[in-house]
Amino acid sequence: MFSGVFSEGVVRKAIQKGLIEVQVHDLRDYTTDKHRQVDDRPFGGEEGMVFKPEPLFAAVEAVRLAADAPVYLLSPQGRPFDGRLAEEMAGRSQAVLICGRYEGVDERIAGHLATDEISVGDYVLTGGEIPAMAVVDAVSRFVPGVVGKEASVRHDSFVGDRLDFPHYTRPRDFRGLKVPAVLFSGDHKKIETWRRRMALEKTARRRPDLLARLPLTPEEQKLLAPGRKERNES
Ligand code: SAM
Repeated sequence: MFSGVFSEGVVRKAIQKGLIEVQVHDLRDYTTDKHRQVDDRPFGGEEGMVFKPEPLFAAVEAVRLAADAPVYLLSPQGRPFDGRLAEEMAGRSQAVLICGRYEGVDERIAGHLATDEISVGDYVLTGGEIPAMAVVDAVSRFVPGVVGKEASVRHDSFVGDRLDFPHYTRPRDFRGLKVPAVLFSGDHKKIETWRRRMALEKTARRRPDLLARLPLTPEEQKLLAPGRKERNES
């Protein structure tokens, strides 16, 4: 599953350049029984299977390079994974991600092996692999040199609790839908102001919860002032 995703695009290039290293570990390599069993039936008589603690503790203890390296259990019950956490993780030399399956993992893994539980959204997937791939992808974008133009990461959505501004390319007029004229003005200051205003307005409309986190500067308040024409103006 992982080799497909990590052998494409930006993440592949980052691995090739040695900017990031991704190691995938098979939990069965950390079993001691003949059948290499990683799961077992849950106590209490419910359906399904649960990850056993022994192979997971052994695996994490073997791959964790330092006692302070964070160990994240991917779980729908975890705290929401977001850009802030991605940036924080990018500053670490190692992060261990545990992917669950089945009904999940023995609670002692969550309570005593993982240092944190993270969720990629309020829905349940069949396994932690896709969340782990999303985490690796998002974290790698914050590692210097991974994204070609680092400035483009700085205005991405969620950086500074704002959504990204709108982007346009050719043609200037597509079926009567016109690119905002300001983008052809050649006036970089005007374009910059327009982009900031568009980003703020979009954030205010779609994600007011983000704007509530950081107070607007007086300049931003002016940009967002009511009565301004909303879109496509110069
Ligand atoms: N019974 C668990 C519950 O309801 O909380 C769900 C287990 S889920 C079927 C199996 C595994 O998929 C989980 O242990 C976790 O690793 C992963 N997973 C599923 N949804 C996830 C999400 N939204 N975020 C992160 N990991 C998730």
